[in-house]
Amino acid sequence: QRRPMVAGNWKMNGDAKLAKALFVEFNTTLSGHSPEVVLCPPATYLESVKHEFEQSALSFKQSVIKLGAQSVSEHDVGAYTGEISASMLKDLGCQYVIIGHSERRSLYGETSHTIAEKFAAAKKQNLTPILCIGESSSEREANKTFKVIGDELNTIIERNGINAFDNAVIAYEPLWAIGSGNSATPEQAQEVHAFIRKRLLEVSPLVGENIRILYGGSVTPSNAADLFAQPDVDGGLIGGVSLKPTDFLSLCTIA
Ligand code: 13P
Repeated sequence: QRRPMVAGNWKMNGDAKLAKALFVEFNTTLSGHSPEVVLCPPATYLESVKHEFEQSALSFKQSVIKLGAQSVSEHDVGAYTGEISASMLKDLGCQYVIIGHSERRSLYGETSHTIAEKFAAAKKQNLTPILCIGESSSEREANKTFKVIGDELNTIIERNGINAFDNAVIAYEPLWAIGSGNSATPEQAQEVHAFIRKRLLEVSPLVGENIRILYGGSVTPSNAADLFAQPDVDGGLIGGVSLKPTDFLSLCTIA
């Protein structure tokens, strides 16, 4: 049985006050039976989130908030101005890192090759990658969705071997759904999630069965229940709503 996960990607938003506000909400609402919750603030606020967690109520500590970063360098160490390595993220208490978000791909030129290297760098430090994959609207219209998704998975497997996904999470984020208010329908999400799982089952039955596949793209408290109810949707990767403590918490209780 896969444990649901709700991950909040703050992107370049939020501050230490948001960390505090979220934890006020968590302390009152979340129980030990909630899904795994991963908070991915900007790197500068990882410490603030960790601090709030450490200050939080004892009952709450038994629950499951984890820290995640939004990106990682593909290199271990060296002259890479502005970059943060996987071991540095580990030092800060991160257990997860988002890799291959479409904004990194489109705005910062990250290629499938770089993303496979980053995936390897994360795994080497025992950070769990949350690999983002998804098609653009023109790719969907041209019936290339499965091709795009399949190619992304293959690039990771070619670089990282058949065990690549044994400790990893996948987030299906169709580009046209991100920040658009136009979420995939539950049926569209399920169709792609099932495709991803089938592909991974071919690589390893155990991994295919156990890997969590999150949906991301305009998830809100009003559409989350139907999305999360799909058999191959194991939770969500949340952008805008992760900045609204009450709404984000309601997503956590739905998952
Ligand atoms: P929104 O939830 O704002 O659409 O963003 C999704 C996303 O990109 C999460 O990584």
